[in-house]
Amino acid sequence: MTAPRYTPLEMLERLVSFDTESHRSNLPLIDFAEDYLRAHGIAVRRLPNAQGDKAALLATIGPLVEGGVVLSGHTDVVPVEGQAWSSDPYRLRVADGRAYGRGAVDMKGFDAIALSLAPDFAAAPLREPIHILLSYDEETTCLGVLDAIAAFGRDLPRPRAVLVGEPTGLEVADAHKGVAMCETRVSGTEAHSSDPEAGASAVMAACDYVARLMALGDRLRAAGDATGRFTPGYSTLHVGTIEGGTARNILARACGFGWEIRYLPGVDMAEIQAQVEDIARGVAAERLTRYGPYGAIENRWSVDVPGLAPDPGSEAERLALRLARRNRPITVAYGSEAGRFQGAGLPTVLCGPGDIARAHKADEYITLDELAAGEAFLRRLAAELS
Ligand SMILES: [Zn+2]
Repeated sequence: MTAPRYTPLEMLERLVSFDTESHRSNLPLIDFAEDYLRAHGIAVRRLPNAQGDKAALLATIGPLVEGGVVLSGHTDVVPVEGQAWSSDPYRLRVADGRAYGRGAVDMKGFDAIALSLAPDFAAAPLREPIHILLSYDEETTCLGVLDAIAAFGRDLPRPRAVLVGEPTGLEVADAHKGVAMCETRVSGTEAHSSDPEAGASAVMAACDYVARLMALGDRLRAAGDATGRFTPGYSTLHVGTIEGGTARNILARACGFGWEIRYLPGVDMAEIQAQVEDIARGVAAERLTRYGPYGAIENRWSVDVPGLAPDPGSEAERLALRLARRNRPITVAYGSEAGRFQGAGLPTVLCGPGDIARAHKADEYITLDELAAGEAFLRRLAAELS
């Protein structure tokens, strides 16, 4: 039986047909990709998550030698709920030179091109390997690449460059901010508002805490951006939600708020978090435990996706600029898995087809021209490594 071949568009149609919203299992897609790659005699390893309901897939094509390039794409997509799609988001619709579907541009288009070309990579006389990595949980935590990253230098030779195929319009992006997200819960003790020493108001403590966080945000702003690459040129701190209290004349029992820091790559987030905990202790001492053990503050840091630091002249940057036929790298405003690779010492840039502006929206699409340009880009890569 001959192994099936797919054009990038046909492969995209298959990949889009799997509903891989981040809260769902991606295993049906991974099963499909694994079967397909194995049918072409390509070595594949599956890297499941702890719960066993999702997995990353790492295909290695070519000789097992140091060097080579990782093509990294996530398989998860953002939810379609509440969005007004013109057609079924999980059935690829091609019209007017565009292919519409959830994930078409972010980023199953890139995944589809890489998978479609895998048999050609396998047939090419590669001198260095091409690794195709399909990850999970990119849209939520960016943790679905860590097992694959750990495999490099342990089970597999270390690659010299990682290309994350996020939709940059085939520009080479070598910089983005990191983002740390936090849910803070302030607990207090109810009492009549006329006697503020008989309890502790979680709302009042939270307001003080938020004010001090805003002051921290001002300090981050004043620290600026030495690279001059980011807009705005400083780390931002933002409180997006706040909720608490039951009545005007009751010291509030609880108040919670959700907030984030989008930080420049050079910023030591662990150090910032230590500062935040210090601030919390100060607020708690002054507002919650001054008259008795009336409350506490708990910061739950849910996600910390590291930024991508510009690394001028890196192997990844030079390779991608050459293959993409660009002169200089750009900065992007969104987060990605790239910082995780860079954190492991692997030179990494973002470069993939399509426009991020269409991502996460109804009627998300990639154009057929963009698919073709992405295909040409990856064919140039295979030629470069042959
Ligand atoms: Zn993406």
